[in-house]
Amino acid sequence: MTAAYDLHCHSTASDGHLTPAAVVQRAAEQGVATLALTDHDTVAGLAEARSAAAGCGVRLIPGVELSVLWQGRTFHVVGLGFDPDEPGLQDGLARMQRARQARGEAIGERLERAGLSGAREGARAVAGAAEIPRAHYARWMVDSGKVRGYEEAFKRYLRRGRVGYVHGDWVAMEEGIEWICRAGGIAVLAHPLGYDLTGAWIRRVLDAFAAAGGEGMEVACGTSPDPRQVGQLGGWCRRYALLASTGSDFHGPGHPSRELGAAPPLPGDLPCVLEALDERR
Ligand code: AMP
Ligand code: MN
Ligand code: MN
Ligand code: MN
Repeated sequence: MTAAYDLHCHSTASDGHLTPAAVVQRAAEQGVATLALTDHDTVAGLAEARSAAAGCGVRLIPGVELSVLWQGRTFHVVGLGFDPDEPGLQDGLARMQRARQARGEAIGERLERAGLSGAREGARAVAGAAEIPRAHYARWMVDSGKVRGYEEAFKRYLRRGRVGYVHGDWVAMEEGIEWICRAGGIAVLAHPLGYDLTGAWIRRVLDAFAAAGGEGMEVACGTSPDPRQVGQLGGWCRRYALLASTGSDFHGPGHPSRELGAAPPLPGDLPCVLEALDERR
């Protein structure tokens, strides 16, 4: 069953395969009435998405998925319902794009040195964008037959500890949350089970996240759809009195991520981030 809202997905403004307008169009076709486009560290796709949404009756919520650092590790924070033109946020995202650009180049150099010749130009050609996210290297590896799929590309080359891994110079988690809050949005910890952490560590992250002004967490994620996972995430959501969010993390057809609207349902007793956004409008 398709959920009526989806608060996490990507377009060609970052590492998705569809243009912002095509993502919105597809959401409408899938029965998703409320959509947040949450590209990595950029709001560049929102204007196009907004006009597409107006044309097909979808309610578009401004979104972004920030890459942040906490205790030396990368986490993702989804921002929802902010003003995309707020100057502090704009400056912050410009800084993130520079960091992404530098990291994209460094990944290419490392892969070339490891014998994957043509990696940088190949990955750049995937989207023709200035910055090259890891998913574009993965896509180039798949398309040129170096690996059988995205999973193998990340496992062999792109994951933390592998030859093509370069640590991003991301914003500190506390500061990233501040960018979102000052722009009037709600900060949501994305896919808490996606960081290879023990439960004890996830609770530590949630402590720091909530103390810094983070208000929500993803409970129903396309990347951890198992009912037991939703149950575990729901338990933390209650314990930290956070708002529950949900999203597919859709990246496009041909990408292993889930379809728009295909996240599992949210447990009914949890306060949903969407209601909080409505109240603040
Ligand atoms: P980046 O922000 O450039 O470090 O890339 C993070 C993105 O890489 C995620 O949002 C996913 O789109 C993608 N990704 C990470 N791990 C995997 C995986 N195992 N399989 C497919 N895509 C992945
Ligand atoms: Mn991605
Ligand atoms: Mn993510
Ligand atoms: Mn994502």
